[in-house]
Order: sequence, then structure tokens, then C-alpha cells
Amino acid sequence: MQISPLPSAPEIRCESLSRGFEAVRALDNVSITLPGGQFSVLLGPSGCGKSTLLRLIAGLDAPSAGVVRIGGRDMGGVAPVGRGLSMVFQSYALFPHLSVAENILFGLSVRRVGRAEQAERLARVAEMMGLGALLARKPAALSGGQQQRVALARAVISERPICLMDEPLSNLDARLRAEMRVELRALQRRLGLSVVYVTHDQTEAMTMADQIVVLNAGRVEQLGRPEEIYTRPETAFVARFIGLPPMNILPLVDLGEAELDGAGGLVPQALPRSTLAGLRPEALRVAPAGTHTGLPVRRIGQEYLGADLLLRVATGGATLVMRLPAAAPPPPERFSLTWAPDALHLFAADTGRRLT
Ligand code: ATP
Repeated sequence: MQISPLPSAPEIRCESLSRGFEAVRALDNVSITLPGGQFSVLLGPSGCGKSTLLRLIAGLDAPSAGVVRIGGRDMGGVAPVGRGLSMVFQSYALFPHLSVAENILFGLSVRRVGRAEQAERLARVAEMMGLGALLARKPAALSGGQQQRVALARAVISERPICLMDEPLSNLDARLRAEMRVELRALQRRLGLSVVYVTHDQTEAMTMADQIVVLNAGRVEQLGRPEEIYTRPETAFVARFIGLPPMNILPLVDLGEAELDGAGGLVPQALPRSTLAGLRPEALRVAPAGTHTGLPVRRIGQEYLGADLLLRVATGGATLVMRLPAAAPPPPERFSLTWAPDALHLFAADTGRRLT
């Protein structure tokens, strides 16, 4: 069934937003623009302020300072219902005593949409979301995945151009979560929705987002496309947070200057010795035996992942993890590491900001 995209899903802008709760600065001077019709993900560890930011966009909470604009309009004093958005939560928030159909239609009944139109929209959304056979059931008779689909259907049927989602997949098992990621993304594209999606799961963020906002302690660490965030993290925090296993980050001094020169010679000699060096596990290579370049290491452990092998290696002062194809011949007990010159990330030790 053809569903035409909603007209002009608007841009969301946050300007110098702060929100404090007594001793806690949940959000600290956040300025971001989330373009209309895009899938934006708010990503960060527990307590970094993701839900607080989403609630401010929704109008469920008011900022201590700053402005939320939707489609250019200042939302100060505008109630959630006036903001043109729907919401989906982790808890589904379905009414247990209502049927699936009644749950999906609930918002429309409240808004006094006519019966004929309700029936037409219900049929369309039920078909689109594969819920046609379940409309008469009560939520208790549905699986977790089906309940989440009902919660989504309720958001979709509202035909509001913005959909805010707070960890909507976290109650599902891993396989269903992976399926729903694809489904959700397809739905967002098809309807042209502006989605703001909260998660602490980097895989969810990387696979679904047009752009990711990485938050840490109430501040924006980086905003960018998934590839940008992965290939060019702006801070050591982002470098550590994105990537599985995470980037190896160690004081530059632990890499040893002679070896660095051998591996690419791109490290400016003037850098302080406390500068942080970052190398992704998959960027590390085994140097050909007998060459004198590279960083001498010793194997101290390994983890078999099927396609890949994670190898833990120790230098004089630090431990690193490298990812190798499991089918490749394993390196000897002692060998040297190399990496391409552009694989080395450098961060200031004090601010954590990227240097190159
Ligand atoms: P999680 O992933 O655990 O849900 P989050 O990134 O969504 O975390 P928030 O819920 O936005 O984080 O909370 C940010 C900070 O603000 C936390 O330190 C939290 O304890 C605090 N906080 C949030 N809401 C309130 C409140 N109503 N009263 C007091 N402190 C609050």
C-alpha cells in the first residue's frame, strides 16, 4: 500500500539549552540542529542527559535556559500537543484493558477524528505494520515485539511529522531488535518523518542514524554522520565510546618515538609526551618478520569471534587489542605492530580534543 510522505517534516533546533536539577546539570549549553526528515540519534552513556533533552524537545519539561525551535518557531510555552509530534517509549505505554485497535486509535478518538477516517487510517497502518490479524487482541496476548509494533502504529497513525523515541527497542531480544531496527528505519524513510531517537546502544545508533549526537555529562561531544563519528572522532570520549571493541587509547609516550617514525613518521615531535594516541583494533597490522619498523609487542591473550580474532598484546607500558581475520595465520608470540599513517588519532591529554 502506498503511503505518501508527510508534508515538510520540520527541522528541530536547540539553542543554548540547559536544564539543572538541584545539584545536577543534566544539560549544559546544548546547541544542535536536527534537519527535517532525518533520523537523528541522541547517544551516550547512562545519565548523560539524553532523556532530558528529548523531554525538552517534546515539551514535557521546560529548560532552565535556552530555546527549542521546531520549524523555526520558538516552542517556549507551547504544550506537547501543539508541537506536532508523537512519542514512543521503552515501556510501550499500552492500555491493558483496550484492544490493539482501540490502543492504536486512542489518540485519534481523543482528537475527535471522524469514525470513517479512523477506520480508513487504521486499516492502512495495520497493513503497513503487519498488525491486521491482531486488532481484536488485548496487549497481554501479544509478544513484546508485537506490543512495540502497536506502540509504533499509534505514533504513525497520528500522522504527525516528528516522532520522538526513547529507547524503544530495549525490551526486545537481540534478534527482534535487529529486525525492528531495519523496520523502523524503513518506516521513517517511507513517511519522511523527523525522528529523534534516544539510545545508549552504539550499534543502534550506527545502523539507523542519518546523524548522531554524542552526549557526555550534559554536553555535546560531537554531532555528525555515523562514518564521521567513527573515522574522525572529535574527542577521546567519542573515540572510546564508539567502536567494538573500543579504540586503543594510550599515552603517546607508550608507543615510543622511534617506532612511530617507522610506522609512518607523521607524529609531530613537538607534541607533549602526555598526548593521547588512538588506534582502532582493526587498524593494527602484524609487521613482516625481520623488519625493524613497528612497535614490539608480546601476545597475552586472545578471543575467538568466528570471522575475527581479537588479540591482546602488551608493549612495555600498555595493553592493546587488535582485530585480525581468524583465517589469517596467527602471529608468533613476539612480533611488531604497524599501522597506516592516517590510522593514528591524537588527542590533547587535558581537554581530550582531537589534535589533527
Ligand atoms: P539513561 O540512559 O540512564 O536514561 P539519560 O542519558 O537519559 O540516562 P537523563 O535521564 O537525561 O539521562 O538524566 C541526566 C541527569 O539528570 C542524571 O544525572 C539524572 O539523575 C538527572 N535527572 C534527570 N531527571 C531528573 C529529575 N527529575 N530530578 C533530578 N535529577 C534528574
